[in-house]
Amino acid sequence: MGKIQELSERLANQIAAGEVVERPASVVKELVENAIDAHATQIDILIEEAGLKKIQVVDNGEGISQDDVENAFKRHATSKIHNRDDLFRIRTLGFRGEALPSIASVSELTLETATAEESQGSHLYLKGGKIEEHRPTSLRTGTKITVENLFFNTPARLKYVKSLQTELANVGDIVNRMALSHPNIAFRLVHDGHKMLTTSGNGDLKQAVAGIYGVSIAKKMLEIKAQDLDFALKGYISLPEVTRASRNYLSIIINGRYIKNYALNKAIVNGYQSKLMVGRFPIAVIEIEMDPLLVDVNVHPTKQEVRLSKEKELMALISQTIADGLRQVNLIPDAGESPSFKRKVEPVKTEQLDLALEQPTGKKSGLSYNPETGRFYMEEPTESTEPAPLPKQDAAFKPTTPPTSIIEETSVAFAEPAAEVSERQEIPEAVEQTAEEEAEELREAAEHPEFDLSTLSGEREVEKAINKLTHEQPKERFPMLEYFGQMHGTYLFAQSKEGLYIVDQHAAQERIKYEYFREKIGDVSSDLQDLLVPFVLDYPNNDAIKLKEKTELLEEVGIYLEEFGPNSFVVRAHPTWYPAGQEESIIREMIDMLLVTGSVSVKKFREATAIMMSCKRSIKANHHLNEAQARVLLTDLAKCENPFNCPHGRPVLIHFSNSDMEHLFKRIQDPH
Ligand code: ADP
Ligand code: MG
Repeated sequence: MGKIQELSERLANQIAAGEVVERPASVVKELVENAIDAHATQIDILIEEAGLKKIQVVDNGEGISQDDVENAFKRHATSKIHNRDDLFRIRTLGFRGEALPSIASVSELTLETATAEESQGSHLYLKGGKIEEHRPTSLRTGTKITVENLFFNTPARLKYVKSLQTELANVGDIVNRMALSHPNIAFRLVHDGHKMLTTSGNGDLKQAVAGIYGVSIAKKMLEIKAQDLDFALKGYISLPEVTRASRNYLSIIINGRYIKNYALNKAIVNGYQSKLMVGRFPIAVIEIEMDPLLVDVNVHPTKQEVRLSKEKELMALISQTIADGLRQVNLIPDAGESPSFKRKVEPVKTEQLDLALEQPTGKKSGLSYNPETGRFYMEEPTESTEPAPLPKQDAAFKPTTPPTSIIEETSVAFAEPAAEVSERQEIPEAVEQTAEEEAEELREAAEHPEFDLSTLSGEREVEKAINKLTHEQPKERFPMLEYFGQMHGTYLFAQSKEGLYIVDQHAAQERIKYEYFREKIGDVSSDLQDLLVPFVLDYPNNDAIKLKEKTELLEEVGIYLEEFGPNSFVVRAHPTWYPAGQEESIIREMIDMLLVTGSVSVKKFREATAIMMSCKRSIKANHHLNEAQARVLLTDLAKCENPFNCPHGRPVLIHFSNSDMEHLFKRIQDPH
């Protein structure tokens, strides 16, 4: 007898469930999709224990007729497509007919459903995919599906389920996306009796955005709209001042289906051109309507990935529409409206250029937007015989003993002797090929900034950077540098008796600030300062869940969040060392980092935060320092624990030894 046998339907369903039903959030997604396909206008999702105990989805859609109920649980049984042609013009979210049988095969499932046409509804109970009970029932039109004890019969799958908070955050995220995709449906998500989301279903996308991201964010969103022969596009995008540390806040919806597509996400970011700081991403919801022929949704069982026939054209349309939209708005925020303005603690000193804050009267002409810092600043005088001052935000630091070069330009004497010269192998040799290659590689790494922790490579950068930091070198190896000039506002030249040194001033500044911030962030025993007016932070439900779990970690770095409504927190104080006027943005960014990095140790979180802060607030290339500033910078650099690398691992300085120079000028002949 042959060895090959057909699997039983139940076993086949369990195998399929592995692909369709990965976690509670996938069950929620499939059930809600079915409700949407059934033209529901109200969908209630009630879950217990992050969905592992119970998931109930109640809709007021068409219901399933008595003749169909059992068929709904057969594999590949669907009411949504009938033939091959239908596969190419899918307008529904489901079509593969495998969700219900898959979910039923790994849970205890109760279905109650009734149609408007029939006088009786149906009640069905299945355990592990087997129908145990089927009886008529009376019910208003619609469907109620209750899934209990998910994965009770697949212990291996249960092992892959993460913490309840993670699973709950995933459920929150998927429901948020579906609510954004269907502003005409009223959604309600309740977990263990607590409301996580409600949307009105009045069809207004902006209201749905406000329900999910908070009203303050929705106010800072710009409406966009465009149409060409193939696509109709509309949605909301955040102004460049409202950014996040990951792409998680980008939602692309094609024909009512929330999809994941890297290229289209990239097109959104490209639309901002240089208005976003590297590693920062906007919040956006973009709905695209197109001929179903142009989009293949049958790529993966979860139907979240799609193949687009005219992807390039769509990318161009998205980028162009966003760029056009942003060009038309005044990118200078109205300072009077800014929450930071309202809760300003101290009068802002005139020399502080942190900016929108001090311009409540809307004196906008002198303000410019710096996409690199994501901030607004006062235009500096352009005649340039005078070297430009250090970025003025620095003037706002209120440190106890900060490195001189990051407080203010001062008339500092000649660089004090830094340290003994003993060895210098930490400094890359300029003439070595490998050093050059490595520098190039590192430069590239720096261009994929550490801040983009959302991508794997970004995370790796941070890992790498952090690992480098743990191998820091004792400072006595640093040479005594005598400054003598600079080039292109980017490189400083210095000499010692060992030869010539070229210092990357931005990298040097980053290193100095990194070490300063790292120490400050580590030292939270220090005082907190009360805010005159506390500010409120709103997060989408899935982020709020993660934050509630991480309050201790945030407290370790001096951030005290007080719960304020289901998805909001109030902040009443901040560590005193925070630069004035930047308290709120620092707190937001630190929280952002935490959301992106997830469960990190306090140590790593502090280090990553210090890297982020040092990078943001350092002088960029093409910035002339005057002689005193340059000398101060070198002095501060010499005091660093590791003056040799910037926090991302790029070299801060390179060295041409005396003999390198002699070789280069052929003053010494090679012995060969
Ligand atoms: P698919 O959605 O791919 O068709 P499913 O297994 O998810 O497959 O559902 C099977 C069928 O059950 C659907 O085609 C639909 O006819 C019916 N169905 C499922 N859920 C609902 C619901 N909430 N309201 C009405 N019909 C439903
Ligand atoms: Mg379905």
